[in-house]
Formats: sequence, structure tokens, C-alpha cells
Amino acid sequence: MSDSDGRKTLGLGGSRPSNVKQSFSHGRTKNVVVETKRKRVVVPKPGGQKQTGPGAGPVGDPSKRPAGITDSEMERRLKAVQAAKAREVEEAAARAAEEKARAEERERRRAEIEAKEAADRAREESLKAKAEEEARAKREAEAAAKAAAAAPAPAPAQARTPNKPAPAATPRKSERDREETNKKNRQSDDRRSGKLTVNQALRGGEGGRQRSMAQMKRKQERARQKAMGGSVEREKVVREVQLPPAIVVSELAARMAEKTGAVVKALMTNGMMVTQNETIDADTAELIIEEFGHKVVRVSDADVEDVINIIEDDEADLQGRPPVITIMGHVDHGKTSLLDAIRNAKVVAGEAGGITQHIGAYQVTTDNGAVLSFLDTPGHAAFTSMRSRGAQVTDIVVLVVAADDAVMPQTIEAIAHAKAAQVPMIVAINKIDKPAADADKVRAALLQHEVIVEKMSGDVQDVEVSAITGQGLDELLEAIALQAEILELKANPDRAAVGAVIEAQLDVGRGPVATVLVQNGTLRQGDIFVVGEQYGKVRALIDDQGNRVKEAGPSVPVEVLGLNGTPEAGDVLNVTETEAQAREIAEYRANAAKDKRAAAGAATTLEQLMANAKADEDVSELPILVKADVQGSAEAIVQAMEKIGNDEVRVRVLHSGVGAITETDVGLAEASNAPIMGFNVRANASARNTANQKGVEIRYYSVIYDLVDDVKAAASGLLSNEIKENFIGYASIKEVFKVTGVGKVAGCLVTEGVARRSAGVRLLRDNVVIHEGTLKTLKRFKDEVPEVQSGQECGMAFENYEDIRPDDVIEIFTREEVARTLS
Ligand code: GDP
Repeated sequence: MSDSDGRKTLGLGGSRPSNVKQSFSHGRTKNVVVETKRKRVVVPKPGGQKQTGPGAGPVGDPSKRPAGITDSEMERRLKAVQAAKAREVEEAAARAAEEKARAEERERRRAEIEAKEAADRAREESLKAKAEEEARAKREAEAAAKAAAAAPAPAPAQARTPNKPAPAATPRKSERDREETNKKNRQSDDRRSGKLTVNQALRGGEGGRQRSMAQMKRKQERARQKAMGGSVEREKVVREVQLPPAIVVSELAARMAEKTGAVVKALMTNGMMVTQNETIDADTAELIIEEFGHKVVRVSDADVEDVINIIEDDEADLQGRPPVITIMGHVDHGKTSLLDAIRNAKVVAGEAGGITQHIGAYQVTTDNGAVLSFLDTPGHAAFTSMRSRGAQVTDIVVLVVAADDAVMPQTIEAIAHAKAAQVPMIVAINKIDKPAADADKVRAALLQHEVIVEKMSGDVQDVEVSAITGQGLDELLEAIALQAEILELKANPDRAAVGAVIEAQLDVGRGPVATVLVQNGTLRQGDIFVVGEQYGKVRALIDDQGNRVKEAGPSVPVEVLGLNGTPEAGDVLNVTETEAQAREIAEYRANAAKDKRAAAGAATTLEQLMANAKADEDVSELPILVKADVQGSAEAIVQAMEKIGNDEVRVRVLHSGVGAITETDVGLAEASNAPIMGFNVRANASARNTANQKGVEIRYYSVIYDLVDDVKAAASGLLSNEIKENFIGYASIKEVFKVTGVGKVAGCLVTEGVARRSAGVRLLRDNVVIHEGTLKTLKRFKDEVPEVQSGQECGMAFENYEDIRPDDVIEIFTREEVARTLS
């Protein structure tokens, strides 16, 4: 018996009185209905007219009947039905068995089909079948009821007298049918109205087995995924999630390979309202990781830095590298002069007319071809601060001692530094050109500090030089080259670069710029790196002669562009594989440093200050704040400050930093009753106002020694009447014009005080002094004027200076002789 048989049956059914057509307006479902009908017809046959009739238990049950139908009426109807069916029943009885078998077969097939996951169609079919089965039963009952009154053939099924179908159907219902009725009642109306959605069909299920839509969907999805291969297992992958002490939500999601949205949601469910860019602590993250079924692997900050841990180079990969030299010595013994002399003597003037670039270090080649890298930042503070940050950059120290002077405090200090760092020394006895020069006296003096030079039968090389005449320079360089040879300095140029920051600053045009001395490996354009608390990608490399280069190998100093912020001198640069690594390391360091600073800051401002004051009751302190244009100057000033003082008084640098003087600086200075020393930097407007209100003294300098002298004088209470600068006005540049015969003219607005033709002027860019000089012209409209008041516009041009830009600020000042006050 096939489906086609079924359909045929349906077709035949048309000729049978029981075939109620109208309700079968929906195609393929009809066949099923027909057979069911037969079944139903057969069942009541045993003719229980009364309630007790076999198989007709519910017939007389008033509860199964629609209201308003009496027993007698019921009985009458039943009789009518039976009468109408008499002939058919006989015939049908024979067919019923066959139909039943067919139905069973069909059921079996349906089960089979379902098992094969050809679910939708089969299910829909069977559902409709059942629906129609019931509908048909009802129609039939109606028809039968009508037929009872008149014709033996059933009337068309549209006879929908509401109170009739149920009683007719009820007697035929088996227990199972009744169970199903509940389920289907809802549907039957839909069926009749011709609406049958897949959803409804599925809801009905078959044989009482119900499945939710979601279940079905899941099942289908699984099957599909299986077919596509493998992705089913993806869900089950348990990942080991590296969890640092703090992690950004999106990064956490990435590490778990989960959707960021899902992680954010999970956090919200746990009461954490965070966005994907926020950082959460490890404990919270651990909760989430476990919730997602992954494994937590806690890592510390140090582990984060593991990616950049120094890989030991294979001996075979190592190649010779130039030595890195720092020149140290007492102030005024000629360090700077010597550095300049060496550079000028040995550096082939650059193409740009011999303009050399001061980037904090430079390389020279000796006559014998040895390459030497000099650190251009003399000063012990730079040397030690670098060492304290873990950057041992220097291979050789050249100790400068003036032949006309003696071994001085800073000479001794330099010796101590070199020894502490275990860096070999070469003594340069400078100013040998001076008549008062006495080199042997210097050699003898050094003996006392355990520096035994070769001339005194020791092993420390000593060379007599003159930075002014150039005498002995070549010998000095050869001595350095020899020392370098002994040291057998090596590096592996074929690895990711490691370097140290020599100088760093925020350049107005180029952004943060750092001079890095490559210590190992080769730094290339495009490299991704982390440096201290900053990171970046090498946008450009500029060598000590101002040339753009593609790469820098071991011991080569280069300016690096492409940083996200300004690092500090002594910070170590490491090239990393990915930007994520670089950023992560930088962020950890920044956070750690912030915590440290917060702790230190609290101690400095309150307890520590008090404690210090108590501990040194008879030593008075002069606290100061230092802000400078570059790290190098800041360190030089701090170092000089530390040296000032005697048994009664000493200078304490509360804070030193790079950049404009801010309100925070003023606040700190006020709290400690300290003056602020600005070296080539200015206070921003709000800091200036606050300082005026709070009476905090801000002093500006452009020569370190002036600053040092002032502090010295203040510390020893010997402030004499000297020249003092008064700021009389500020003007901001709106536009820059080029005027023939005059050059560049700044169209300005005087924002404060007064602009005076005869006064001194400074050009400030981002509160850093770019130029200091005088005015060539001060014009109001077309006229040259002596003064322009605040709020007015004017034209200004500098004497011998053209690099003026819109938004630059012009500071106008006068000098006068006053009695100094230094708080
Ligand atoms: P720094 O403080 O150690 O850097 O010393 P400087 O390089 O600034 O020199 C201090 C002073 O000594 C300057 O006035 C130089 O001109 C002078 N000077 C440096 N080297 C020599 C030298 O070899 N001969 C003479 N006659 N003067 C020198």
C-alpha cells in the first residue's frame, strides 16, 4: 500500500458518502484522512446504542456531549447514523482491516522517515493527516446526523452546526484519540481555515512525541555543522587563558576565543557594567573564564615581559661592535669642549653645510678606521640614572681632568661611578695647552683615588689633550680604540634590536622623539617596539648627521620616530613581534609605575617631608621643583642641585620633569613652599594664574649655570642684587605673512600685558622656548609703534629669526636690577 493508493482512495472517496470534500481543500493531506475515516466508521459498529455498548463507553456520557442534547436525541442520532451507514458499514468492515493495515504500514513508514531526518515533510503530512482525520470525523458525524433525518448519503460537510460534530465524533473516540483531541483542538480550527504553519505542524508532533522548535533547529544545526565538518567540536575546546593581574575585556575575549559581546554580557550578569575597552582585574576575569569553561593560567607582570627576555646569542653569531664612550669629569674641566672637538675633528661635515645634529650621541671614525660611539650627554646623573634603569650603555669612561686644576669632587665621583659600573677608564688630562698645566700633578693626585695611570706604571691609559688646540685628540681616540679591542665587544646584528634611550623629547613637528643607542641586534624602519612605558612602530630613523637611515646596528645611535609617548633617558627599547605584545608590556609598566609614583608621591609630600625635617633638624632644606625642556637638562639640573649645599643647608628637588609647568606642579610647589625652576619651559596659562594667586614663585632660565648659581646663592643666603627678568606681556601668533624686505611677520594678538618694541622677546611653542632675541619691528596697522596694549592686534618680526608659526606665543620681557628673592 503506497501513498498513491491512499490518494486513489481519496479519489474514490468522492463516490462514497463519507467523503466530505470541502474540508479537504488542502492537497496531499487528504489521503490520510480517508483511511482514518474508515477506521472511525468501523469502530462504533458493534452498535452500543446505550452507554454500555462495547467500544462506545463514552457515547452516553453526558459530559462528552455538547450541551443541549438529550440522551434520547443522542440515541436517535446514533441510530440515524447507523442506519445511514448500514450498507456502507458492511462494505467498510471488510475494507477496514485492509485500511488499518495500510495505516499501520504508513505509521511505520512515517517513523522510518523521521528517523532519517526527512522530518519536516513527513511530520507535516502526518500532522495534517491527523488534523483532517479529526475534522473528517466531525464532518462525518455531522453528515451522519443529517443523513439520519433524510438521505442515506451524508450531506456535504459544510453543515457546521456547532453543537453537532462533537456528539457524533465522541462515541467513536478511543482513549488514544481523546488524548490527541486536546492537542488538536487548537489546530483543527486552523486546519479548517486552511492555515497550517510549519510551526503548528511541528507543535503537534506525532504519536504524542513533542519537540520544541528550538530543539529541532538545534538538531538541524548540528547536522549541518557535522556535514560542514568539525565545527561542532569547536565549542568544546577548553583553552588555557593567560591571565595577567589586569586585562582589557576585549583582550580577555580574544584569549578565550569567545565573542566580545558574550563576555561583556557575562560580566553584566555578574554585576559588572563594563565596556569592551575597560580593564578588569584578574579575579573577575577568572570568574568569567571559568564561566566559559576555560582554564585559567595566572601570569604576573614579569611573565608578560617574558616575550622580550634576552635570548642568549650563539657565540658564532656575534660580531665585533664599536665601543660606547661616556666622558665624565668635574664641571668646567672641558667635557663639552672635548666632545665638540672630537666631533668636529672627526665627523665629515654633513651635506647640509656641516650642520651637525645633536641627538645625544654621535659616532666618529679614527684615522685607523676604528668606529667609536660617544654619548653626547656629559654628566654623572645621566650615567647613573641610566644604570639605575638597567641600561648599562657605556663601555668606556673617559675621565677628564683639567691639567691646570686638580682632582675635584666630581672627578672623584666620576671615578666612583666608573668603578661601580665596572667600566674601564681612560684619563684625559685636558687643557694641556694652558701655561699652568701640570699633567704629572694630576697623575699623582689620581693615585690617591686608586687610579694608577700607565705613566705611573699602572694599567689606566692616560693622554694629554687640549680641546682647544686639538692636541692629543688622535692619541686619545687611539687609546679608546685600543681599550675597546681589549674588551672584545661583540653583538649579534641579526636579531631583534635591544637599545637604550639616550635622550627623549616631545618635538612639536615630529611628535615624541627618542635617541636610542642600539646595543644588540639591528633596529629597522617598521619594527614594532616597547620602550619603557611607551611603545610604537619605527616610522623613521635619523642618524647623528641628520640623515634618514633604514636601519641601525649595534652601538649605532639613532633618533627614533613613531613613539606613542615620550620615554625617559635610560629606558630600554625592545623590538617585539606584535603590537599587542608591545602595548601590553608598555601598559603593565605604566600601571606599575603609576602605583609606585602614587606611593612615593604620598610619602614625599607629607610623612616623608616631616620625617626628613625631624631627622635633620639642624639642616635646613631649600625645596625646589624643576621642569625642563628635555630629560637630559632635567637630569643635569637635578644632579647639580644635589651637589649644592653645606652642613647647614641643602637643596631638595621635590620633583623634576619634562614639559610645560602645569597646575599640578604649582600645587606641589605651594604645598612645600618651593619655587619652580623652569628651564627653557614656561607655565601654561592656568598654572600661571594659580601661581599668581598662591604666591608660588616661578623662575625661568635658559642657561643651566644661571639656575645653579641662583639656587646656590639662595641656599647660602647670599642673594645679591642682580638682573631680574620681568614678563610684561604675551602675544599669540594668529597668522604669519611674508613681507618683502622684512621677511616673516607675525600677525599677533596681545593677550596679556603689553608688547614693547624695545623689550626682549622669546618665541614659545607648546610652552617650550624656541628662540630668544629682540624685535625687528612692532607694527600697529601700518605704523611702527613703541607699544601695543593687551587685546590689540599687531605685527611683529624677530631680529635674525624666521621660524615663526601660527599658535606660537611671543613672550615679552624686560630686565631690571632687583634684590633677589628665592623662597
Ligand atoms: P665642562 O663643564 O666639563 O663641559 O667644560 P666645558 O667644556 O664647558 O669647558 C669649560 C671651559 O674650559 C670653557 O670655557 C672651555 O673653553 C675651556 N676649555 C675646555 N677645554 C679646554 C682646553 O683644552 N684648553 C683651554 N685653554 N680651555 C679649555
